[in-house]
Amino acid sequence: MTEKMTSQLAMDLEDKYGAHNYHPLPVVLSKGKGARVWNVEGKEYFDFLSAYSAVNQGHCHPRIINAMIDQAQTLTLTSRAFFNDVLGVYEKFVTSFFGYDKVLPMNSGAEGDETALKLCRKWAYEKKGVPENQAKIIVCDGNFHGRTITVISMSTDPDSRNGFGPFTPGFITIPYNDLDALAEALKDPNVAGFLVEPIQGEAGVFVPDEGYLKKAYDLCKAKNVLFIADEVQTGIARTGKLLACDHENVKPDILILGKALSGGVYPVSAVLADDEIMLTIKPGEHGSTFGGNPIAAKVAIAALEVVRDENLADRAEALGKIFRDEMRAIDSEMIELVRGKGLLNAIVIRPKNGKTAWDVCVKMAENGVLAKPTHGDIIRFAPPLVISEEELREAIERIKKSILFFE
Ligand code: PLP
Repeated sequence: MTEKMTSQLAMDLEDKYGAHNYHPLPVVLSKGKGARVWNVEGKEYFDFLSAYSAVNQGHCHPRIINAMIDQAQTLTLTSRAFFNDVLGVYEKFVTSFFGYDKVLPMNSGAEGDETALKLCRKWAYEKKGVPENQAKIIVCDGNFHGRTITVISMSTDPDSRNGFGPFTPGFITIPYNDLDALAEALKDPNVAGFLVEPIQGEAGVFVPDEGYLKKAYDLCKAKNVLFIADEVQTGIARTGKLLACDHENVKPDILILGKALSGGVYPVSAVLADDEIMLTIKPGEHGSTFGGNPIAAKVAIAALEVVRDENLADRAEALGKIFRDEMRAIDSEMIELVRGKGLLNAIVIRPKNGKTAWDVCVKMAENGVLAKPTHGDIIRFAPPLVISEEELREAIERIKKSILFFE
């Protein structure tokens, strides 16, 4: 007989049989719909993490789920050893959606970043004329691009790096939001690309100065260096535009997408570029068994159609303004700073009487709002973009109540 599932049992199982590479809030979820999730015992919460901005379209969006079920009952995986009748349709759809010649489909965000790095290096050797094995890519302090060895080789976060060396060479690290440092680094003729998050999400929702992306793009162009945007977290309407780069009318040479490309339903990532760059990778030089599989293709089409048909970018823009205004109006010493764009926001918490961002998150969970601290004192707030204004206002009341509890 199987034991009845409870929140405690689920946590005990994970603790005993799972690797201890995460420290979750003590909340065990068993159901989700739209902006809401429920725990095993039936308690309801607003989800203000959205699986790190993967569930922009809301939990279990029927249109995306139906696309997945249909395709799952028809054909799931062929590998790329053969063609299938779905991938090309998706490739046409996604390239016209974002305005690029070609797409290279992968699964996780980290794989998308790895793919972009390989593509950038290949372009540097074949088109720019960088001597073999000399290509360098500029990255930013505080970046987060995932967890593979090469990706953590770019990281400046000790938790991500310590104990995992030796690291992949070929990166130059500069401060984020620093155009002088970028200009200096670009003097090296072997620089092939500049990889940047338009807003640093994992670092704590750091929004660069207005004009930074455009000026950085122009500096790269002047040196024949590829501007590579990691929009895994900021893309797909999260910040109030389809892409965060759209706020400054910048079209990255290489665009990396993941997370909400599937609405959080399936691991789907993608790298987009024009022919001059994308066609430097030839058959047999890169790939993935699952990348671009028929389910992923159908799910991603449906997920992007939802973003378009439900005007999620405009919703994120309007609701984000309400959220920040309301948070700034809370009269609490614990709120040091409110920042963000669209529905990607953060509050920097000033600890009070020994109570920290973690305690605020635990209290919010008690009051029915789920969010997670990052880097100790920052709480990120990123609800599904389908949240209604009424739901948002209800959640705001619960957040206020939770913060004011510590006054
Ligand atoms: N890039 C950015 C900007 C991210 O925020 C993340 C995940 O948080 C990743 C890449 C890695 O994505 P994944 O966890 O799917 O590998």
